[in-house]
Amino acid sequence: MVIQHIAFRQDWRQAQRTGTYDRSTRGASIEEVGFLHASDGPEQVRAVLTRFYADVGEPLVVLTLDEAALAAAGLSVVREPGDPADPDSERFPHVYGGPLPVAAVSRVDPVVRSGHGPGPAAADGSDEALAGADEDALHLSRAISLATANAATDGGPFGALVVTADGRAFEGANRVTATNDPTAHAEVTAIRAACSGLDTFELSGAVLYASCEPCPMCLGAALWARVDRVVFAADRHDAAAAGFDDAAFYDYFASPERGGLMPIVHRAAPGSTAPFEAWQENADRTAY
Ligand SMILES: [Zn+2]
Repeated sequence: MVIQHIAFRQDWRQAQRTGTYDRSTRGASIEEVGFLHASDGPEQVRAVLTRFYADVGEPLVVLTLDEAALAAAGLSVVREPGDPADPDSERFPHVYGGPLPVAAVSRVDPVVRSGHGPGPAAADGSDEALAGADEDALHLSRAISLATANAATDGGPFGALVVTADGRAFEGANRVTATNDPTAHAEVTAIRAACSGLDTFELSGAVLYASCEPCPMCLGAALWARVDRVVFAADRHDAAAAGFDDAAFYDYFASPERGGLMPIVHRAAPGSTAPFEAWQENADRTAY
């Protein structure tokens, strides 16, 4: 059984910054309630969303909890009646032991609402989560359209977009040859647009959609940008078949014999750690 918890996206973002999630339900913390309210799988999640969150306009996410990680953190799961006054009422998992470490959350899915009113769509813990899937299909389709349009003009056949938790989309297309910039891949362009548009250097809570599997550089950029998830359509073999080097670069990182393509040399140099010391000593630094 998959244990899930409905959270306000803002609360989850806050938890990602502090390392712990301390809400139990709408307007009440774990400390106030005594445990974390959770659900046994998508059916209970849907019922709770309908019953208790129908009037909520802010973005919600469904957190999937890893029972082993909860146990490792000293937390315990007890299935108890949803209505404490009625011992025969439907049982829900309650997590005891204090705030939740963010590492105990194995998956985060947005709650997608239907067009008519606040009724929530499905949000389950499987890889085929309907809630995420519809949205993913929509954004992937947009990435492919961007790629196709770009390829028909002055760019490479790649498109991408960053979609924030509250649904804002920042688009990018491949501009390598158009701007003489080998790093202007669609994903990097979209990440730059999102960070510039949001005035931030990190995109936690956002999803990166790409028309084709991101190359190692773009995966690195996505990691540095702290996006929650990457979704792509065509894969590295499709790109290789069209004459792009993605597959070869993946091999480069996977292979212990890297020298063949481009040697990397590590050599000791005086003062090589001085930049880090200067960083540590700078009290005004912005950590990232
Ligand atoms: Zn790339």
